Amino acid sequence: MAQDPDCIFCKLANGEIPTSMVYEDDTVAAFEDANPQAPVHVLVVPKEHYANFVDGVPGDVLQAMEHGVAEVARIKGLDRGFRVIMNTGAAAGQTVMHLHMHVLGGMDMSEGMIP
Ligand code: 5GP
Ligand code: ZN
Repeated sequence: MAQDPDCIFCKLANGEIPTSMVYEDDTVAAFEDANPQAPVHVLVVPKEHYANFVDGVPGDVLQAMEHGVAEVARIKGLDRGFRVIMNTGAAAGQTVMHLHMHVLGGMDMSEGMIP
């Protein structure tokens, strides 16, 4: 499985650095964000390294991420809904260059997408 030895999310997703794991399977890991922006803020990441959503990510990995998001929503009880954000590139505010989905919930959010 391709990983970047200098990537913090590769290390977190593959258990090299301990973290608060919410859900895990062979392809993805979901762990608590270190700086939560909502009552529930979990990151869903592939165990393999991709820089972002448009870095040639295979369909089966994207499908596994979708399953990971659904599992996080179930485990965290987000039955009223949640927001999924994928910052893609520097202008979008991506600071960790390993593909990740933010799952944000546990509060009512505004209809606008950019606060
Ligand atoms: P981005 O801005 O790249 O979309 O989001 C990166 C996210 O990763 C941020 O919300 C930040 O709080 C989180 N983060 C950065 N470093 C770590 C870390 O070492 N552990 C965890 N759990 N989250 C991190
Ligand atoms: Zn990585």
